[in-house]
Amino acid sequence: MHAPFNRREFLLGSMLFALEACSPRRGGSSSNNQVYTPRPPVRAHGYRYTVKRGDTLSSISRRSGLSVATIININDLESNIIYPGTVLVLPGVGFMGKDPLHIPDDNDVAALGQYHDYRIVRRRYWTKQSVRSNHRAMGSVNRITIHHTGEHGDIAKLPDLDVVKRIENYHRNERKWAAIGYHYLVGRDGKIYEGRPAKYQGAHTRSNNRNNLGISMIGDFNKRKPGGVQLAALESILNDMRSKYGVSRRKVFGHRDLSPSVCPGKHLYAWLKRYKAG
Ligand SMILES: [Zn+2]
Repeated sequence: MHAPFNRREFLLGSMLFALEACSPRRGGSSSNNQVYTPRPPVRAHGYRYTVKRGDTLSSISRRSGLSVATIININDLESNIIYPGTVLVLPGVGFMGKDPLHIPDDNDVAALGQYHDYRIVRRRYWTKQSVRSNHRAMGSVNRITIHHTGEHGDIAKLPDLDVVKRIENYHRNERKWAAIGYHYLVGRDGKIYEGRPAKYQGAHTRSNNRNNLGISMIGDFNKRKPGGVQLAALESILNDMRSKYGVSRRKVFGHRDLSPSVCPGKHLYAWLKRYKAG
């Protein structure tokens, strides 16, 4: 028989205990009696997601159920711009769901009319929110008015879909309009988002909304010139809508022509003047 500890083991154990007892991880000064609660290592746990092309913090937030702020904090991101290949830690997330706002492949997006430099993303593909009942019928369309989303401030810097969602939130949920005031929003990649269905009168040009189709270009065109793809999409939908409703070039306006506004910005307005001259 021998004792469960020999003297050396006993001394070693005591020293380790003493070290452990004095460890700074026990937290704070010995003068307070706070109970030590270990902080989990911030980056150690959670689903690891590799950022793909086209991802935004908003889309990852929608897919993971975490807020954008949480994703930024946990991953020590310095801005809300993320780059493909970055690995994000998403705590408490078991798997990534589908983005409910995912824009379907081109096969599910209809092209209208004879001009094909654009694709329409129908309203049902990008929002689940209904059109409120407080709308009027459009009746016939006899004029078209061009806007830019720069009139909403800095949101024009966001990804196209986020711009559309922000405007929906502002128009429909805050201002309690029936839906987005514009009928179409032209994206920078040539995708055109259906805003308010064209059978309903729009809410985009104060006191001049009757029989007036509203088309807004995503961006701030007082600050910069629109890109070629986006302009080609605008020109195509303008041609199609003029043909569909029998509207002459002369009856295509910039917002500033009908009410006091810088909209649609000096660069887009200059393009519009050339377009009207045919
Ligand atoms: Zn406008």
